[in-house]
Amino acid sequence: MIELNTSHSINSNKKIRVAGIIQESIVDGPGIRLVVFTQGCRHNCKGCHNPQTHDFSGGYEISIDEILNILKSNPLLDGITLSGGDPFEQPDSCCYLAEKVRELGLNVVTYTGYTYENLLKKKEFINLLLNTDILIDGKFELSEKDLTIPFRGSRNQRIIDVKRSLESGKPCLIINQ
Ligand code: SF4
Repeated sequence: MIELNTSHSINSNKKIRVAGIIQESIVDGPGIRLVVFTQGCRHNCKGCHNPQTHDFSGGYEISIDEILNILKSNPLLDGITLSGGDPFEQPDSCCYLAEKVRELGLNVVTYTGYTYENLLKKKEFINLLLNTDILIDGKFELSEKDLTIPFRGSRNQRIIDVKRSLESGKPCLIINQ
């Protein structure tokens, strides 16, 4: 049983360091999505398309309130996508944003270079995982690159239904991927 760790104190003054934001995307998860490209990644995947997102001091800071205001201003959006960089390198800020997005009745897709199994092993990652509806996991593998598959860059990456996975105790892939 995985429980939400409420020991961290965080508020809406919290900021996220980002590489950029796309206000409408149809290629970063189902439906129409606001995409937040977080800044900072330590995975160093060969052939990464976003190397400018790796530097932890790069990009710029933006308040979570500002992101939420962008989200609320567009009624066409189905949810938010946390991409990167790796959102799990800023787990508390991304978790808070994800919580607020879900309170609005919208869904959360999170990309990560970590695998689902590795995320489960680290306490600091659990809260963001619990506030993610769909996880797209794993490093980009150049040898597995496939531009024809939806929402991913390489075939090793998985589209995971987080709620079903946690209930069943094993990663549940979303069908028709
Ligand atoms: S996890 Fe994503 S951003 Fe990080 S190196 Fe791999 S492909 Fe690039």
